[in-house]
Amino acid sequence: MMKANWFLTFSWMALVAAAACADDIAEQEIAPWQPGTLDIHQISSGRGNAAVYLFPDGTTMLVDAGELPSKTPRHTPDRPDSSRRAGEWIVRYVQHALRHDPQPALDYVLLTHFHEDHMGGPADDAPAAPAGAYRLTGVTRVAESLPIGKLLDRAWPDYQPPIPDNSTMKNYRAFLKWQTENKGLKVERFLPGRNDQVVLCRDPQKYPHFEFRNVAANGEIWTGVGNVTRQHFPDLDSVPRGQWPHENMLSTAFRLSYGKFDYFNGADIPGVPPEGSPVWHDVETPVAKAVGPVEAAIVDHHGYLDSQNEFLVATLRPRAWVISVWDSGHPTARVWNRLRSTHLYPGPRDVFATDVHPATNLVISSLDKLASSHGHIVLRVSPGGDEFRVLIVDDTSESHKVTKVFGPYPSR
Ligand SMILES: [Zn+2]
Repeated sequence: MMKANWFLTFSWMALVAAAACADDIAEQEIAPWQPGTLDIHQISSGRGNAAVYLFPDGTTMLVDAGELPSKTPRHTPDRPDSSRRAGEWIVRYVQHALRHDPQPALDYVLLTHFHEDHMGGPADDAPAAPAGAYRLTGVTRVAESLPIGKLLDRAWPDYQPPIPDNSTMKNYRAFLKWQTENKGLKVERFLPGRNDQVVLCRDPQKYPHFEFRNVAANGEIWTGVGNVTRQHFPDLDSVPRGQWPHENMLSTAFRLSYGKFDYFNGADIPGVPPEGSPVWHDVETPVAKAVGPVEAAIVDHHGYLDSQNEFLVATLRPRAWVISVWDSGHPTARVWNRLRSTHLYPGPRDVFATDVHPATNLVISSLDKLASSHGHIVLRVSPGGDEFRVLIVDDTSESHKVTKVFGPYPSR
């Protein structure tokens, strides 16, 4: 009797698992988003960072729209190909991810910081906007095709230094001026510590266990207590200009929670300052203290040599790491070793990368241990957040075909 019961239970569990998997099978087009599910798509473009988030009630968010204005042999090819610019590919990807919605729109766009690989840089041959004195690249290209509910960045409205003084910033500010004056675009400064700046805007009552916590920007870092923050940098009047925080240090960071599922995105914050730098150039350590353990995390600064310090890796200890990568310096060997180190935290973990450069594979032979090294990476979190899967989606065409499925991974 016991045996029969056990067998029935097992069969039932297998059936449930099969039903849960049925939507996403390798070699088929990725299934559309469904209400209650949290989807996080890390887009592979070969030109920078971009991710689209579909919250459980259908609220949408784009985090960055990178479009590097030029390519070097250090970069991987454009994905899917060079027939369009990255901003346009991102729009088309988002439209497909939102195909359940007859009027696709981005409720939020977050620019993590002011670098071309996150916002788009105006190449000389980038098309001019039909109206307004700016070029279409990255985020300005996205705004041309998709309605934006609210744009968040780290420095609105006054853009006080430290701020880049370059053509990318001039183009972005010309875009903001025209869009706010003529199209009513809403812009806000990303406010660290808050958990009510990015909210579910379609059916919040239905999903009370969802939270978007702003963790850091401009060196102002959440303490992990209430909405309290602390300024991590010293008064800049007392700091020699050469040691002023660089743009990556000013990046936004956030934690997203859905039931037991937690996710971290620290954009390009560094944690391993170059030799001779002040200790406060390490932004990862105070950020990790506030965030704590998560199920999945973006690898900071694409896995470059100044990122992923031991404390951050040991504190976040995710089951899944996602690296947004297109450059031969992403990741570097020591970062890769830390991600895999079971001395820093025990247990298995899978590392997924959007597009590893062949030279990086040559330098770091153990990169063949990556769970995936090419393709869009989709975290699909089940309703309620108890478990998640990772789907790899072909980035060499617009087939949106799932090439690999990982998980389910239980949330802790
Ligand atoms: Zn970057």
